[in-house]
Amino acid sequence: MKILVLNSGSSSIKYKVFNISKDGERLLDKGLVERIGEKVPGHKDALEIILKKISAKIEAVGHRVVHGGDRFKESVLIDDKVVKAIKDFSELAPLHNPPALLTIAESRKLLSGVPHVAVFDTAFYQTMPEAAYLYAIPYELYEKYRIRKYGFHGTSHRYVAGRAARVLKKSLEALKLITCHLGNGCSMTAVKNGKAVDTSMGFTPLEGLVMGTRSGDIDAAIVPYIMQKENMDVGGAIELLNKKSGLLGVSGVSNDMREIIKERKKNRRAGLAFDIFVRRIKKYIGAYSGLMGGVDAVVFTGGIGENQPGLVKEICRGVVPSRARVLSIATDEELMIARDTHDIII
Ligand code: ADP
Repeated sequence: MKILVLNSGSSSIKYKVFNISKDGERLLDKGLVERIGEKVPGHKDALEIILKKISAKIEAVGHRVVHGGDRFKESVLIDDKVVKAIKDFSELAPLHNPPALLTIAESRKLLSGVPHVAVFDTAFYQTMPEAAYLYAIPYELYEKYRIRKYGFHGTSHRYVAGRAARVLKKSLEALKLITCHLGNGCSMTAVKNGKAVDTSMGFTPLEGLVMGTRSGDIDAAIVPYIMQKENMDVGGAIELLNKKSGLLGVSGVSNDMREIIKERKKNRRAGLAFDIFVRRIKKYIGAYSGLMGGVDAVVFTGGIGENQPGLVKEICRGVVPSRARVLSIATDEELMIARDTHDIII
């Protein structure tokens, strides 16, 4: 079955085409259309460009959707009801769900004869216990606004957890894994017996680890304090924490780990950014090992996790028990989306 996977952002669409059959999984094509809104007028035009480039006859389409809220526990065949539900969660993912919705609408028209499937970043975390996903704020706010931990990057964590089990030659159901997706966005997940039991990202992707430009965990009281002192509105505070913090904010040098590593011996603040980044991950490894009653392997993925063995070593030193394995595994969210699409349709 030839499957087109679409990953839509507000100004770009990434795509991959896979052939999935009994004989295996093969990548046939991949690419990216950028500058939507500038050179390319809209998502419909971007899709037309993609469909012209692809020579394979597409039999199904898999869409990456960031936020499935608490409604979608797994990937689903898209119909009008599913589209409406994704729309309902747009308020919780204003940067991510609207472009995915645009692409879904246009591709359902352009490829109307084939099934379309939605694969959610949040779905992997729907198995977390209430005690993991509830915040200690008045319960009524959870009931009223669904304020809870949702978790993100789930497709990547699910993919590398599966790969790790194969590398370890064990069943995923018999393993305690800590998966670390360290890219521009960074998150960690505790995976016990194949199920996510906790994750570092929260109500939005802002919580948890130090990221390229996101702060990760901070004392919530800092936010109104800064707003008052700097005469800042809500939009300004959100931008500060999402776009001007993290590695960039601390170092003043870059959001890119390669630059931080280059500068860290010469530039005190770059060194600090590095140390805070590493320390936060160590703390989460300790917390998740404790939570699961041990850990069989710590798995690293994403641009940093796949390409920075020295940094991975530094993170693991003194916190990963010597009998646990440390693995670096290249993620492939699009392949996971293609697999889900295949499994739903077959
Ligand atoms: P995104 O989260 O946007 O998909 P990536 O997964 O590519 O981004 O991660 C970006 C981070 O990974 C940057 O901090 C960058 O320094 C690091 N990175 C990416 N590629 C490499 C590489 N080849 N060697 C070292 N670091 C890399």
